Amino acid sequence: MNTLERAKRELVNTAYAAYQKGLFYETWGNMSCKPTENSIVITPSGIPYAKLRFFDMVVIESSGKTLQGRLKPSTELPLHLAIYEKRKDIRAIVHTHSIYAAAFAVSRKGIPVALEEQAQIVGGVVEVAAYAPPGSPELAANALEALGDNSAVLLANHGLICTGPDLAAALQRCIVIERNARVILCSKLLGQTFTLSPEEVTNLRSDFLFLYGQQGHAE
Ligand code: 13P
Ligand code: ZN
Repeated sequence: MNTLERAKRELVNTAYAAYQKGLFYETWGNMSCKPTENSIVITPSGIPYAKLRFFDMVVIESSGKTLQGRLKPSTELPLHLAIYEKRKDIRAIVHTHSIYAAAFAVSRKGIPVALEEQAQIVGGVVEVAAYAPPGSPELAANALEALGDNSAVLLANHGLICTGPDLAAALQRCIVIERNARVILCSKLLGQTFTLSPEEVTNLRSDFLFLYGQQGHAE
């Protein structure tokens, strides 16, 4: 299997895993990875996640031209391309409409760090980008601005974008952020929500990167 075939296989497997975890539903959300400097592989537009197949994946040149695939690429291709262009450290992007992250996106409120795993895996608050319609160049510009040097960003009235050095890392961030958002909203029922301070977050992130697990997680 060559590099592009391996990337297509990884993308379709990650998309199905995200669907099974309930992060994707029907046709909403999309994901991509960047296997080489000049190519990205992205999910097709408007195909139900339950039915995605290996040969539905679309390979795109960095210029935006389709290299392989018979289906139209995701309508969020301009957003994915803009992120890869600006942030050379990013090799994978997962965009979900998952429910608890979407609730914060609708409130246009950032997701604070309530759980240690958000501090460890995300390293801070998930900020909200200004509203722009899906698929628009404005959405890409607003998302890039709010993303800054972070690894995740909310799209107002829309959903969540998580990035990483590979698909597994980007998906893990989506899972952790969704759970952190859900726990915050549940804690509101109990009347009090304590979030972690920037100093506590920095300490948790650094312990995770250098000490947690068998050999740390520094990228
Ligand atoms: P696509 O099916 O075109 O990827 O669109 C889904 C989506 O989430 C748009 O923001
Ligand atoms: Zn979307």
